[in-house]
Amino acid sequence: MNHIAHWIGGATRKGTSGRVGPVHNPATGEQIAEVDLASESEVNQAVAVAREAAEGWRAASLAKRAAVLFTFRELLAGRKDALAAIVTREHGKVAADAAGEVARGLENVEFATGIPHLMKGGFSEQAATGVDVYSIRQPLGVVAGITPFNFPAMVPLWMCATAIAAGNAFVLKPSEKDPSAALWLAGLWREAGLPDGVFTVVNGDKEAVDAILAHPDVAAVSFVGSTPIARYIYETGTANGKRVQALGGAKNHMVVLPDAELDAAADAAISAGYGAAGERCMAISVVVAVGEIADPLVAAIAERLPGIRIGDGADPGSEMGPLISAQHRDRVASYIEAGVTAGAKVIEDGRKSGRIPEKGFFLGATLLDNVTPEMSVYTDEIFGPVLSVVRVETYAEAVELINSNEYGNGTAIFTRDGGAARRFQFDVNAGMVGVNVPIPVPVAYYSFGGWKASLFGDTHMYGPDGIHFFTRSKVVTSRWPDPGTSKIDLGFPQTD
Ligand code: NAD
Repeated sequence: MNHIAHWIGGATRKGTSGRVGPVHNPATGEQIAEVDLASESEVNQAVAVAREAAEGWRAASLAKRAAVLFTFRELLAGRKDALAAIVTREHGKVAADAAGEVARGLENVEFATGIPHLMKGGFSEQAATGVDVYSIRQPLGVVAGITPFNFPAMVPLWMCATAIAAGNAFVLKPSEKDPSAALWLAGLWREAGLPDGVFTVVNGDKEAVDAILAHPDVAAVSFVGSTPIARYIYETGTANGKRVQALGGAKNHMVVLPDAELDAAADAAISAGYGAAGERCMAISVVVAVGEIADPLVAAIAERLPGIRIGDGADPGSEMGPLISAQHRDRVASYIEAGVTAGAKVIEDGRKSGRIPEKGFFLGATLLDNVTPEMSVYTDEIFGPVLSVVRVETYAEAVELINSNEYGNGTAIFTRDGGAARRFQFDVNAGMVGVNVPIPVPVAYYSFGGWKASLFGDTHMYGPDGIHFFTRSKVVTSRWPDPGTSKIDLGFPQTD
């Protein structure tokens, strides 16, 4: 049995808690490894090592830090297939999807190579006579990332690239369901010349998370996961005086107006609804069909369903892989049943698909029509290959539906009408909007984040917000002695 340990002080360190968790290959259903689950004292040891490393790392020049980022970028770009294969083996997503995840993570590393420019402050000469004022940004010290199972490489890279480039020591607590990508990244950081202790991996579950949230030396926590846990992390972390950004779950709507290009909209619904078996926080889970396009749109989506090749992600022919666990597959299936019971019209039932492998945690693609806002298939994040179609008569009803939803991660509109698209971006309450783009994940030089129950905190992830989150500003007011103008003045300093 492969054993997955922690990474502390630049080397793997076997756990001492006596607790381990199973890691499966979801395509076969077999357990392929066990992962150490850290105790509070192991987290404390890891943070102590990180704290010491943070002192030296923040003193390293911007040039040195950028150089490590550039080397890391080269190594990652050169070995991206190896990382993608690890993602496929433990998560199950198909090879092309895993490659996409790694590529989007790499973007964040590339952004962070520009750290000397990104850390620049402002300078005001002569704010008062003989007085200059300037701002600088400094790292926070030890910062932590807690990440979900569905992007085991990309989400850690969203966080660690900017956190480390900014001069922090970064402690990662990856998902215990697919932790190997994090360990692989740790080895790569070391090879890139990052000093030991600046990148740490503590594997674990709630116990490790709670230890991070309670630790006085952890200055900030960046979290991505489900909404109930995101809320818990935000409330607990901020109550303990930490800076917290906590990204939660989603229910992403794709509005299709009557003038939309039908085939493009159907292709997009299939790609964004069933890609990664729906296990993406930016997956489209609700198609909002406006007016007379509903019948042809449902028919066009249904027609494409039999073409989806479901299988082991390691097989290059597969387009959709399994779900992460048997338990999650059964939960998704129970939502399909709930939808049927509530009166949704089943166009395709993934539980009955004859085209799925027998072994592994597979479920076929499901399409439900005539879904209404009270049904649990609509209200809850299912996180599986289940696409719901809600029919409305007008654009205004579509926007009202989205804006009434608990979540506000991503949304998209499909139309040929530029005015309608522009109005949609103005009207809609969501953090990321696509215009004829179903999965509008911002490029690395913007920032990623939702609204409402999809994000707790006020900074988004990576990009400019990431730099902001992982640094704090200091403003210096400076006067150099000038014997020619020196005098005693007990009044309050004014900007004259
Ligand atoms: P999760 O919330 O179960 O787990 C996320 C992390 O929290 C893991 O590291 C896990 O070990 C830890 N955790 C789980 N339960 C905990 C508890 N009770 N106390 C403390 N820590 C706990 O999420 P998941 O199932 O791994 O990932 C899927 C979820 O993540 C979905 O809801 C998805 O929408 C969301 N997600 C959101 C984004 C985004 O950007 N908004 C991106 C990816 C995934």
